Amino acid sequence: MKSYEVVIVGGGINGCGLIRDLALNGVSTLLIDKGDFASQTSQGSSKMLHGGIRYLENADFALVQEALEEKNLWLKLTPHLCFERDFYLPLYDYSKYKPWMLRCGLFLYDFLSHFQNKAHDMLNPEETVQKIPSLEPKGLMGAGKYYDGVVDDAKLTLECLYDALLEPCANALSYHEVISTVKVADGYEVTYQSMRTPHKETVKAKFVVFTTGPFTDKLLPKLNVPWTPQLAPSKGIHLWLKEGSVDAKGSVVLTTKDNRVVFVIPQRHSILVGTTETPVDQDMFNIKATEKEVNYLLDVLRQYFPNSNLTKDSIISTFAGVRPLVREEGAPEALGKVSRFHKIFRPDQFTYVMLGGKYTTFRRMTQELAQEIVPRLGKAYHPNYTLNPLRQHSVMPTFGEQPKLTLEMVKKIIITEYVTTFEDLVKRRLSILDEPHHLKDVMGLPVDDVKALFR
Ligand SMILES: Cc1cc2nc3c(=O)[nH]c(=O)nc-3n(C[C@H](O)[C@H](O)[C@H](O)COP(=O)(O)OP(=O)(O)OC[C@H]3O[C@@H](n4cnc5c(N)ncnc54)[C@H](O)[C@@H]3O)c2cc1C
Repeated sequence: MKSYEVVIVGGGINGCGLIRDLALNGVSTLLIDKGDFASQTSQGSSKMLHGGIRYLENADFALVQEALEEKNLWLKLTPHLCFERDFYLPLYDYSKYKPWMLRCGLFLYDFLSHFQNKAHDMLNPEETVQKIPSLEPKGLMGAGKYYDGVVDDAKLTLECLYDALLEPCANALSYHEVISTVKVADGYEVTYQSMRTPHKETVKAKFVVFTTGPFTDKLLPKLNVPWTPQLAPSKGIHLWLKEGSVDAKGSVVLTTKDNRVVFVIPQRHSILVGTTETPVDQDMFNIKATEKEVNYLLDVLRQYFPNSNLTKDSIISTFAGVRPLVREEGAPEALGKVSRFHKIFRPDQFTYVMLGGKYTTFRRMTQELAQEIVPRLGKAYHPNYTLNPLRQHSVMPTFGEQPKLTLEMVKKIIITEYVTTFEDLVKRRLSILDEPHHLKDVMGLPVDDVKALFR
């Protein structure tokens, strides 16, 4: 039976961030995911590296500061995946924030970044309309301009994993479901089952870590891990719209009349619009946007961009995800107000569960856990290793000019980027929003020949 020091269950950003940290510190680690790596929440985010301007309202200053530090770090470490963008937050005469409040909030935001953010600015109504000409002018009182990051969330997750797998002590399996963890004298026996064949295998591990995000509350009782439910899962959906369907050059942050926040972020020759916050009543592994949710976002856009010609045809695709928010005693009712702080649980001596937090702060979360586990294995922990750049980039850049691909290049991507299915390739390695058009016309690939590689 193979033996590892740590088995990580769940290959989203938290699992992939953790295996990187452990592997760089010389810990033998196996990461297992039920689907493709980064195929759940960590590809369904709003794709922002951000402090979270709205968390200032909850006085979550420590979280905002930590997230801003991490945002500015990743902008430097991965300039091919993370970009700084100007964001405009317009104010209307009915907005709950007054211009002076926004000015104070944006100053605080820059302050908490140790002034590493590009400086904010306040625009009057005329300046706002110059920047975002299509914005509803009636009642407009101006806008705050500030800076945050955009990221390809799935790719950053994958590149953390690729970096980890350059270390001989790290190993990873996709499309394998962990089906049992049994306590034995010197650790655990972890059994996983292939999702594609009848193959089952058991390995030994000193520690088991669950980074299973929104799936945790359902999974742990099935594995007989002592556990009381901890999550307040909150669903959010997004739309990818065709370029030009909303005339927004900069990114716009809308605070709606029903007190929600909707982002409109032009990127990748498209416009990303999101998100909603609703309780979850569907199978979380196949979570989809409902028509009602899509209509809600379209209505918000029509209200703020009244001259845009938005129809269902403007939509390239939709996606949904579930925020693994940790429930708190006495927390406010509204899901949007549940704290984004993370928690690390230790249901027994050698089992850890990491929950909550934000994508932006994953490195800090995984570091907190790694610096507990590594010394328990009798090794020295080096916190600075994760400050080094990622060493293996994806062949296909997400942003900017994309090269034409050949079938040979695709075959190489399949091997070096741990691809199992056509969808893994198209969605997460090539970052394509509208296949097969993009695959054929932009990348120059014969779609059927690419599909044939997976038969
Ligand atoms: C709508 C939305 C918008 C968001 N926007 C932002 C944003 O803009 N910025 C930001 O910082 N954060 C954002 N977040 C938060 C962020 O996306 C999450 O905090 C983060 O992605 C959680 O990652 P994770 O690794 O914990 O979970 P996941 O990515 O869900 O990974 C968990 C993994 O566990 C696997 N798994 C489950 N059960 C098993 C099993 N039995 N065996 C093996 N594997 C298993 C799953 O397949 C999955 O891949 C957003 C979240 C949502 C939902």
